[in-house]
Amino acid sequence: MATLSSPAVIGNAYPITDHTFDVVVVGAGGAGLRATVGCSQAGLRTACVTKVFPTRSHTVAAQGGISASLGNMGEDNWQWHMYDTVKGSDWLGDQDAIEYLVRNAPAAVYELEHWGVPFSRTEEGKIYQRPFGGMTTHFGKGTAQRTCAAADRTGHAMLHTLYGQAVRNNTEFFIEYFAIDLIMDDEGRCRGVVALKLDDGTLHRFRAQLVILATGGYGRTYFSATSAHTCTGDGNAMVLRAGLPLQDMEFVQFHPTGIYGAGCLITEGARGEGGYLTNSEGERFMERYAPSAKDLASRDVVSRSMTIEIREGRGVGKNKDHIYLHLDHLDPAILAERLPGISESAHIFAGVDVTKEPIPVLPTVHYNMGGIPTNYHGEVVTKRGGDPDSIVPGLMALGEAACVSVHGANRLGSNSLIDLVVFGRAAGLRAAEIVNPGEKQPELPKNSAELALSRLDHFRHASGSTPTAQLRLNMQRTMQSNCAVFRTGEVLEEGVKLIHEVWSSAADVHVTDRSLIWNSDLVETLEFDNLITQAVVTMEGALNRLESRGAHAREDYPNRDDANWMKHTLAWLDTSSQKVTLDYRPVHTYTMSNEIQYIEPKARVY
Ligand SMILES: Cc1cc2nc3c(=O)[nH]c(=O)nc-3n(C[C@H](O)[C@H](O)[C@H](O)COP(=O)(O)OP(=O)(O)OC[C@H]3O[C@@H](n4cnc5c(N)ncnc54)[C@H](O)[C@@H]3O)c2cc1C
Repeated sequence: MATLSSPAVIGNAYPITDHTFDVVVVGAGGAGLRATVGCSQAGLRTACVTKVFPTRSHTVAAQGGISASLGNMGEDNWQWHMYDTVKGSDWLGDQDAIEYLVRNAPAAVYELEHWGVPFSRTEEGKIYQRPFGGMTTHFGKGTAQRTCAAADRTGHAMLHTLYGQAVRNNTEFFIEYFAIDLIMDDEGRCRGVVALKLDDGTLHRFRAQLVILATGGYGRTYFSATSAHTCTGDGNAMVLRAGLPLQDMEFVQFHPTGIYGAGCLITEGARGEGGYLTNSEGERFMERYAPSAKDLASRDVVSRSMTIEIREGRGVGKNKDHIYLHLDHLDPAILAERLPGISESAHIFAGVDVTKEPIPVLPTVHYNMGGIPTNYHGEVVTKRGGDPDSIVPGLMALGEAACVSVHGANRLGSNSLIDLVVFGRAAGLRAAEIVNPGEKQPELPKNSAELALSRLDHFRHASGSTPTAQLRLNMQRTMQSNCAVFRTGEVLEEGVKLIHEVWSSAADVHVTDRSLIWNSDLVETLEFDNLITQAVVTMEGALNRLESRGAHAREDYPNRDDANWMKHTLAWLDTSSQKVTLDYRPVHTYTMSNEIQYIEPKARVY
């Protein structure tokens, strides 16, 4: 990296507008909005800062639904939901946090219902629930119908409802403000955040007693992803730059059914409604890999099975490089009622009429299990002085940006939307306990905007010869080929070398426009700089983990190794030397209450 200009010079060049709030939430997806509502309701003066308009956050794209053991379509309870989530996580999830999630899930769904989410209904008027992968009854014996849905537009319905609630509770929104970096003080407390207002190029410093990062995942480190262009994990990268670790970054979920070529998602709800996969021989191959759950096995299992079919020459299409998803046997009336959105996507992106033909699909990057380590109150934790659960004061993280960890090594479908609202609510409750409304805050350290401004200034004047788009493509290709569904030591070692080379080559980045106003090239460069740091820790974490667990499948270490590896990865990054430091923290092998016992690890078969 080129040397950064001196802060004194920068400070003069960039006048800053100051704001003071009790709480600043960065992100207006499901997690950020739910936390915003809770903090506002607790009487805290709350700001919500977001780079896109709230209802354009990626949560809007969620299709299939939100899990909670309501038992509307057959028997169900939170203990079974807990068992499934622990098993889905391949025993990397923290069981106290998982208990908190599943016990609070039904109340969170009813709250959404009362706030106005237009859920699909059963004949009796109850919330409709569909089967989803890995969701069972009787501890793995039956199939649960646990996923509450608003047709296949659940996230859309949720996000619009939550935005309405936030407006109703007088949250102050800072829309199209791009948060650049956290403000940390010498004691390691988070004191605020610096942001660029995109439409007029002004800079803003938010001082707060509590900053909540709800900035979403970093799917865009990969070439083919279901996530939006904006899913660049900015909060995760801010945390790395603040000298704090990220957790379990090597666990990247590939969704079995991205549309071949386009990468857009076809929800697992399609298989929940009876869809199934076939290979070039017309065989329903999932029956071989997961005899009881079949097409509704956990996502990592289905993605691996599809990849094996393709590798062994049984892929479909001209190049035998994808798989078919059939919905053509289902009643067109059901498709129109329950899966209207994906019927449309299949038509637009694959030219397929789902009532007549199968959809061409391929495993596609979909979700990041890893992120900012937190406890189940949303408070960020780090390993300090040997204590793996020490709290970072003034900082919380939620949603896909966080690693609570309820999803462990593999997330079950429909368990993310519920994570957003359960932990969003928990953060609001915690904030009400630890933040005093209107309490006077100390002056910010003099150099508090230095980190943010020097990065901004550096990229704004970047006059090398490589466009950001080229750097991004190099990164995405490397991640896609060297850190995918199956991994080996050799491929990962090459990946580590290549990804560091991409990062080093960013010293030659070229940003076309010097303006701060609506400069998408500059913003995408800041986002690339965020992505590359996460790509690096993901690759190195994957190389170092010598086992297969959940989404991390090593061909050279095909088995799960609980004796040595039932632990969370923590990764720190020194951005000037590009050096990654890895350490580990124990999985929480205890529950919250004595109403359920710790679920002992066993073989994970579906
Ligand atoms: C296509 C698709 C379908 C899915 N379907 C389901 C499903 O059916 N069920 C399920 O449980 N899960 C589903 N998921 C996963 C789930 O939707 C996501 O994990 C979840 O919505 C993430 O929510 P979030 O609030 O953490 O972040 P997001 O919704 O991604 O929001 C991030 C927010 O952070 C803001 N932000 C980011 N960076 C900055 C910055 N630098 N400055 C200011 N603001 C910033 C953005 O503006 C945005 O408001 C799906 C995911 C995808 C991609």
